[in-house]
Amino acid sequence: MAVRNNGSSGNRGMARRDFLKASAAAVFLGGGTHAARAETTLLPNQSQGKARNVIFLVSDGMSVGTLSLADHMLRRHHDRVSNWAQLYEQEGVGRGLMDMASANALVTDSAAAASSWGCGQRVNNGALNMDQDGEALTPILQYCKDAGKGTGLVTTTRLTHATPAGFGSSVSARNMEDEIAEQYYERELDVLLGGGTRQFDPDHRGDGEDLFGAFRDAGYAVVKTRDELLDLDASDDRILGAFYGSHLPYELDRLNTPDLRRDVPSLAEMTEIALDRLKRNGDGFLLQVEGGRVDHAAHGNDAGGLINDQIAFDDAIGVALEFQRENPDTLVIVTTDHGNANPGLDGSNGNFDRIAEFTHTNDWILSGLDSDSSVSAIKERIEEATKLDIRDEEAEVLQSALRGDYTAARRAMSGARPVLGQILANHTSVSWIGTSHSSDYVELCATGPGSEAIGPFTRNTDLFNLMLDSLGVDYAHGRKTAPTYA
Ligand SMILES: [Zn+2]
Repeated sequence: MAVRNNGSSGNRGMARRDFLKASAAAVFLGGGTHAARAETTLLPNQSQGKARNVIFLVSDGMSVGTLSLADHMLRRHHDRVSNWAQLYEQEGVGRGLMDMASANALVTDSAAAASSWGCGQRVNNGALNMDQDGEALTPILQYCKDAGKGTGLVTTTRLTHATPAGFGSSVSARNMEDEIAEQYYERELDVLLGGGTRQFDPDHRGDGEDLFGAFRDAGYAVVKTRDELLDLDASDDRILGAFYGSHLPYELDRLNTPDLRRDVPSLAEMTEIALDRLKRNGDGFLLQVEGGRVDHAAHGNDAGGLINDQIAFDDAIGVALEFQRENPDTLVIVTTDHGNANPGLDGSNGNFDRIAEFTHTNDWILSGLDSDSSVSAIKERIEEATKLDIRDEEAEVLQSALRGDYTAARRAMSGARPVLGQILANHTSVSWIGTSHSSDYVELCATGPGSEAIGPFTRNTDLFNLMLDSLGVDYAHGRKTAPTYA
């Protein structure tokens, strides 16, 4: 990286200064979809058309602290380095920071973030590939489909949640999840694996349509448990797998709950099966893999949940890199869409090591408590999940938060979830700045054909160009989506 980015030529220095000016203007004017369009933050892409496949891996809501904590945990308790950190030690890996601002905010949401990669334009928070004039923009998987490539979405959230939807749909509001599921069907995406049966199930969809049935009639294998997924017939090329009503359970709860472990596949397992099917397409594919619940654990100030979901995501990176070793014409991009709550270890190793003993998430703890819970019940529940013996006065603060009687100096930290997060921080030394997304520039790295184009500081929208240029897929910015989809 250092060699690639040491701008020895005067021209490059000039270009970078211009870029920094343009990019600063774009940020302070609230993005501006067209203003910075002529600029590119990418370095020359010497691999145009040379990538047969793209695997795009996104850990949702991953602050740099999250990446560090997961790597610490793996080194100290799993006897390995994270695949992500290992990438940073390899030759030929492009790496830099990325500016994820949306069209109207420094702090993006996941819909606008995924859209910036999915259509090459910044859109307002909450929108999916829909510009500020309400015009639908073609999502990247449609371009790939039109070029004969395979298409896939794998996630631990509902399949219709913002990040996968940013590659496979165009809607004005991210909560239009029933419509998003229909668009996946209309677009005939090849492999869909994740949570969110409710957007496909006639008993739970607003319009009562049987989308599972429609997919089946269209020739998809439809599976709802881990066993069904692992037992799929080798001849099943197209798969819809939805393994939970809403988001898949947190990895920490999945690992320690026998029924969940039996019925819900891991992100790595889903990734492996998706790649096995998509590689059959002679023209290649684009697959997005999302570790979607890292974001939720960060919102909830839940260190155990966060670290374990980040590790599960890291396992999926391992699957992608293994695939790339056998298929070197694969561009693998690893990134996140925004920081969240910016966790960090600010105490001793010993405190941090306690997290390795956790067996359940903070949401699991709180699901067993309510406004009537006694101090001893609160202490027992926390001990069952974390082996921590918290103080009576700590349990009293949580009791008051459960009753809605507690107000923190930082008001966002007053609810039961952040209060539990602060209490556990007394014992684990993992602290949080808040409960929301942050504006931090995010980590971006890539390996394989096209990765040489990753510069030191990338504008989010440029990844759209990078992916399609590397794949050799033609595109036109602002090409409207066919009316039937929106
Ligand atoms: Zn979020």
